[in-house]
Amino acid sequence: MDELMLDGNAVAGLLQEVFSAEFTTAVGVCGSCGAREPMGAAHAFRGAGVVLRCAHCHNTLMTIVTDEARVWIGIQGMRTLEVAVP
Ligand SMILES: [Zn+2]
Repeated sequence: MDELMLDGNAVAGLLQEVFSAEFTTAVGVCGSCGAREPMGAAHAFRGAGVVLRCAHCHNTLMTIVTDEARVWIGIQGMRTLEVAVP
């Protein structure tokens, strides 16, 4: 086993910090056109869930679907998401 590899439980604290951060000021880089913008500048479309699209090229940056107990987040359309942690 690789000595640098841990299971996901080892980064639970880091993930908790990331997911409690303020996301309107988080900065995303579009995976299609490379635009770098605060997530609050993205265009949000509501339907069965929420789709956040790049304001420049309309690429899907993020999808968010919820039910009563869970949230599914897809961030397949971003190169990076920069989040300031408290
Ligand atoms: Zn874009």
